[in-house]
Amino acid sequence: MDRRHFFQNSALVSTGALLGCATPGMAQQQVKTPFTVPGVYLPIVGSDEQFPVRRIYCIGRNYAAHSREMGSDPTREPPFFFQKPTDAVQYVPTGTVANHPYPPLTKNYHYEAELVAALGKGGRNIPVDKALELVYGYTLGLDMTRRDLQRAMGDQKKPWEIGKSFDKSAPIGALYKVAQTGHFTKGAIWLKVNGQTKQSADLNQMMWSVAEQISKLSEAFELFPGDIIYSGTPENVGPVVVGDVIEMHIDGLPNLSVKIV
Ligand code: MN
Repeated sequence: MDRRHFFQNSALVSTGALLGCATPGMAQQQVKTPFTVPGVYLPIVGSDEQFPVRRIYCIGRNYAAHSREMGSDPTREPPFFFQKPTDAVQYVPTGTVANHPYPPLTKNYHYEAELVAALGKGGRNIPVDKALELVYGYTLGLDMTRRDLQRAMGDQKKPWEIGKSFDKSAPIGALYKVAQTGHFTKGAIWLKVNGQTKQSADLNQMMWSVAEQISKLSEAFELFPGDIIYSGTPENVGPVVVGDVIEMHIDGLPNLSVKIV
């Protein structure tokens, strides 16, 4: 095989040869790989750039009434977080109804409608009054959950992974820059299944605001550009089955819809 042929068939060519190091902040270097792993990107509305997704953080039980329905005391305990893998992202273009596969192993598959904040800057120990400066933009998303598996693992004091962090468990819309939407501290958030309202609340009912979430999260993890945060769901989560259509809304953003297939 001549040199030219080799390069045509290597991952080096198709990736443009520049890959980030595992540790952000280190110099980029050329890496030869035996195959390519696609990056995960979200379109940025009004831009030809795409937002590279680094980590997906999710906050649990951030609305008092949802905390109660999950069996917790809704006093203002410190927020807690879990993660989904980046490739759990299922991008849902505005104006479409994306097919969303009913995942394996569950008999109780739940929706959770959530505001999503996307970070354009990082840091550690960010004070609440500086936290929103990290936000690049916002969108809306579904924290899809295999509730039966999540509960079973919780009962056994095992990690939630299998209930929360599976393939395509994070349907999400295109990203809007803060300059386009402002910050989200109030406004309606609702979710319908087959046209029937299931969840309906106001973002001002969050126990921990986006700014407080970022601040708390940054005490536990160094945050980086590309991190996104699912900010928790209101009460009245519930199941869907194959054939159902979910539509979710947050004031100031276009609706997001998926069909369970
Ligand atoms: Mn959630």
